[in-house]
Amino acid sequence: MLTTGLFMSKSLHQDNKLVDTNFDRNHVWHPYSSANPINDNYAVKSAAGCEIELTNGKRLIDGMASWWSAIHGYQVKEINQAIRNQIESMSHVMFGGLTHQPATELCRKLIELTSQPLQRVFLSDSGSVSVEVAMKMALQYWHGNRKPQKSRFITVRNGYHGDTFGAMSVCDPVNGMHSLFRDVLPQAMFLPAPPAGFDMPLDNSWQHEVAQAFELHSDSLAAFIIEPVVQGAGGMRFYNPEYLTFIRQLCDEHEVLLIADEIATGFGRTGKLFAVEHAMICPDIMCLGKALTGGTLSLAATLCTDDVAETVCQSAAGVFMHGPTFMGNPLACAIANASIDLLLASPWQQRVKHIEQGLKRGLAPCAKSDQVADVRVLGAIGVIEMKQAIDVAALQSRVIANGAWIRPFGKLAYVMPPFIINEQQLNSLTKAICQAVGPV
Ligand SMILES: *Cc1c(COP(=O)(O)O)cnc(C)c1O
Repeated sequence: MLTTGLFMSKSLHQDNKLVDTNFDRNHVWHPYSSANPINDNYAVKSAAGCEIELTNGKRLIDGMASWWSAIHGYQVKEINQAIRNQIESMSHVMFGGLTHQPATELCRKLIELTSQPLQRVFLSDSGSVSVEVAMKMALQYWHGNRKPQKSRFITVRNGYHGDTFGAMSVCDPVNGMHSLFRDVLPQAMFLPAPPAGFDMPLDNSWQHEVAQAFELHSDSLAAFIIEPVVQGAGGMRFYNPEYLTFIRQLCDEHEVLLIADEIATGFGRTGKLFAVEHAMICPDIMCLGKALTGGTLSLAATLCTDDVAETVCQSAAGVFMHGPTFMGNPLACAIANASIDLLLASPWQQRVKHIEQGLKRGLAPCAKSDQVADVRVLGAIGVIEMKQAIDVAALQSRVIANGAWIRPFGKLAYVMPPFIINEQQLNSLTKAICQAVGPV
């Protein structure tokens, strides 16, 4: 192989601190992006409070909380202090055979905040990995139970659970963007999405179909995985929490574990600390991520019951077969502890309620546009569903011109702002979007 010159100077170096968008376009992957992007990414200089400042000086009200995560906004004094304090003692040590205060404190907090039966915590690097962990727990559970034939996952359409292979296998098979990988993914069983609408009365025919699937297939089912109450990246859909209660009952009756993926909904976003609380149910396994560190570092957790944990360890392996290199990273755990403390010390319920009212009021004018199919709000989540696929770059540039940041996909323009957004910023945000979506 001709390698001469491969490691010679490539003139990639740039000394100043400007964001080189030209370099970015030619060398840097972004989420779900082409190697030949048509549009440049917007270059960010800094972010503080509820605002993102671009290198061109433009300041944008953040409507995304960096994909559900930055619930306290940016440059949070308490979190920055927690980072400084933690690096003074250690930023990282391995978690195999060692433990430390930031991790034990975080796991204690998560156990206290979630429902009583969830007693064991597995820390990992990202939401997708926490879903892999949950799925592996379910599989090992049935091995430990001497029912290894229970090895399939059942879920609903319009779900999103991450981009790794196991997680992809339970994402919506059509809009999950993963049809390319279908041949190598384990075959999950898909039920129709729960009928839309948080307040809509229950649809008996849906329930009947779900019950029938349990009756026919429970011998082969390891676990039901679902995003409680809000389906996020798979369609920004809300559904009646009583469907969760119903699923919980079926799981109990038919010996199927229930995995709740709270990665997007956790930490207050829907108005409850965790969305399963709308249904007053407890899953056997629960995934947390995104807002866990207030959007500062990647960290996720998979919680499970004592029964799951103990049965997993009765499988032939005798242990749970997973252990990321950066498991329990002290810096990430310290940040999560600070973020949770900050959240619990804040009037987050009032803030979320306030955002809910502001979004309902502020986005209502969009519903008058004949291009808009639906406007819906739940907690600090606002969704405008268009009739046609959105020209993302065009809508984005109009919203940016109006002083706000959103990241639409498909037919959906949606917001989930930091909880600290103030009245005026919220008004400006919804106005920026409505004007851009127009004509109203
Ligand atoms: C974002 C998300 C994931 C994946 O988390 P990553 O940190 O991106 O790997 C999984 N499930 C849900 C519900 C999510 O919203």
